[in-house]
Amino acid sequence: MRFTNLFAPTLRQDPADADVVSHRLLLRAGYIRRVTSGVYDLLPLGLRVLRHIETIIRQELDAAGAQELLLPMVQPAELWQQSGRWDKYGRELLRLVDRHDHASCLGPTHEEVICHLVAGDLRSWRQLPMNLYQIQAKFRDEVRPRFGLMRGREFTMKDGYSFHADDEDLAREYDHMFATYQRIFRRLGLNFRAVEADTGSIGGNRSHEFHVLADSGEDLIAYCTECDYAANVEKAISGRAKPLATGNEQPLAQVATLGVTEVDAVAKLLDIAPSQLVKTLIYRVTGGELDGKTIAICIAGDDQLQEIKLQRAIHAEALEMASDAEITEAGGVIGYIGPQGLTCPLFADTALQAACDLIAGANQNNTHLRHLSMPRDAANAHYFELRQSCADDQCPHCGGTIALARGIEVGQVFALGRQYTEPMEVGFQDRDGKRATATMGCYGIGVSRLVAAIVEQCHDEAGICWPMAVAPFQVALITLGNGEMVTEASAELYQQLTEANIDTLWDDRKERPGVKFKDAELMGLPLQLVVGERGLKDGMVELKPRQGEKQLILLADALSHCLQSVANPQ
Ligand code: ATP
Ligand code: MG
Repeated sequence: MRFTNLFAPTLRQDPADADVVSHRLLLRAGYIRRVTSGVYDLLPLGLRVLRHIETIIRQELDAAGAQELLLPMVQPAELWQQSGRWDKYGRELLRLVDRHDHASCLGPTHEEVICHLVAGDLRSWRQLPMNLYQIQAKFRDEVRPRFGLMRGREFTMKDGYSFHADDEDLAREYDHMFATYQRIFRRLGLNFRAVEADTGSIGGNRSHEFHVLADSGEDLIAYCTECDYAANVEKAISGRAKPLATGNEQPLAQVATLGVTEVDAVAKLLDIAPSQLVKTLIYRVTGGELDGKTIAICIAGDDQLQEIKLQRAIHAEALEMASDAEITEAGGVIGYIGPQGLTCPLFADTALQAACDLIAGANQNNTHLRHLSMPRDAANAHYFELRQSCADDQCPHCGGTIALARGIEVGQVFALGRQYTEPMEVGFQDRDGKRATATMGCYGIGVSRLVAAIVEQCHDEAGICWPMAVAPFQVALITLGNGEMVTEASAELYQQLTEANIDTLWDDRKERPGVKFKDAELMGLPLQLVVGERGLKDGMVELKPRQGEKQLILLADALSHCLQSVANPQ
């Protein structure tokens, strides 16, 4: 492609509303433009990168025995009512009503549609297993779309679904897809980590997320520095580095804490460690058996409640902080809430299960209690793992030290079991001639998010540094000046490279060299091949990898050098 034909409007200045590097660089280098909140145009360069990512995904999935199909984006409400998700999915599901008053939604994911398809045509165990995937636009009406392609409302996803006669076969395919995902992310040149994950609104009983490690990541991952344990903090279970004191039961005593309510301030006033305090939080629950009720949560003063863990533990759909009126109604006194004397159900973190000699709010103004013993004074508490993992915690597998890192979730695999196939009636005749329900796995990759995630990992001050495998063009052919000799030599090289199937962007503009170099660097093309008057007199051109040293090479050898660099990138 000639630069003079390319629609890649670059920006000299950093766009004001872009907070992360990938968003900024993709806008500046002319890969994307914003249409509205969470909705973007992919310009020619952006689309080229997306297509290269898709190609790698297709090659690996096809080789792994999956088949590609294409499902519709508009999905009838009936299918979602049948699975039970029409009422559960919440406001991320964009619902529409057509001219016949028929309700539909824009697909945020496709379990219902694929089950409907397979249920219609599955007869016998002989047709199983089957693994079907698509690469398609999804729509999720995210509360906070941000960071450009990272969290859009409309985005491209690869979603795959497998169906099996029994759970052993599902487990086999799950491992097979896990390994396939590792190959895909390796080919994309990413530094990534597979982590144990919460199953979220998709559900199921086993799940892993794949995270690209980057400081801008929205997720927090806990991993062991000594073994290969790694989990999203929404799920990670690790032990406190310092367990809480137990076994010293003294009588409860009131202590005046006039106007002091914050954990650190109370700890300072009473000259104790924050871990000796019990934090008590009151929430209102939506969904599950506790729907509409308020509940109290106790957690050590230096720990944070991980809300997703609480939500799973009590099968809630959502949690909200209780209002002042609800706190009062539950027997709590704001600023001085403690477990004793509350009338609502009480849940506590397992780290507190045997803890004694604690300080807690007394549910009386300006008062705390000393020597609180959880087993004695909060005997009605139900214990669950509720705290968020911290750096220096103990690994649940090997006792090693936990560290935290930020990650961008680029893929997730789930062993769903029969959660969708049962309500959607995906049945078949088993080996013994009996009716059975298929068991199911699902596998997603955020294709457009990957474009951003790769930039988060591959950039420098000058711009993007694409890995060769996904670069929109492999070579930037840069002509310096516009004399006849350089133009002719460049045209010749351009033809040779193109015929050798090397994606080449020939910068044939009448621009100053500085502008051309800046744009090539900003756009992140992996190789620059520079044709200048001075070198050409000696039959030489310059080859420079995006982040490497320049090298003078013979014009006659330029093609073979490029072929070699494309095949074996730095
Ligand atoms: P997240 O926790 O980031 O909201 P998710 O767990 O809800 O994502 P999945 O249902 O697992 O997402 O979807 C599969 C993949 O699609 C994710 O791993 C992610 O890479 C991508 N993805 C999900 N939501 C978005 C979005 N709003 N914008 C871009 N990509 C997304
Ligand atoms: Mg996910």
